[in-house]
Amino acid sequence: MHLNPYGEYAVLMAASLANDWPADRAGIEARAREFGMRMQFPHGRDDHPQVRKVIDDWLTVVDADDPRERARILNRHMASATAYPRLTDHDDQGWHLHYRDDDAKSLAHVLSAVISVGTALHLTTRGMHRLGRCAAGDPCSAVVVDITRSGRQQYCSVRCANRAAVRRHRARAAAG
Ligand SMILES: [Zn+2]
Ligand SMILES: [Zn+2]
Repeated sequence: MHLNPYGEYAVLMAASLANDWPADRAGIEARAREFGMRMQFPHGRDDHPQVRKVIDDWLTVVDADDPRERARILNRHMASATAYPRLTDHDDQGWHLHYRDDDAKSLAHVLSAVISVGTALHLTTRGMHRLGRCAAGDPCSAVVVDITRSGRQQYCSVRCANRAAVRRHRARAAAG
């Protein structure tokens, strides 16, 4: 488990879990692998609901509009999930930093540490506004992590961008 300098994989993984919640624990682990995590995860009976709770908590960061409020919530998450940073080189991944204790307590704990630090790195390096919900609105409430160069991504997908464009066009036609 490691965080690149921008915390990108961790924040994208959190959004993926929020937008497409896996049906079981194996699905969560498969998703973590998909986003590049290679460590052995501890097994617990309540992993699935506990990780759901981590994602629900993370969504309060996503939905906090004010940067100060966003920072306050995220600081609280980091205080409860992370430990002092330490260097590690497990699984031939090269030297990188971990922000949790070496003896991880649970899958939810590991993901909470990775996601909170990753989100903090993403927001502080790319911009505090680069996290939110798809601007197309109803029926889409997907989380959008903006890693674009311009920093102006509003929609979760081309489909939603098109839907919003059609809506604007119709509004203009109705007005004119
Ligand atoms: Zn690692
Ligand atoms: Zn959308």
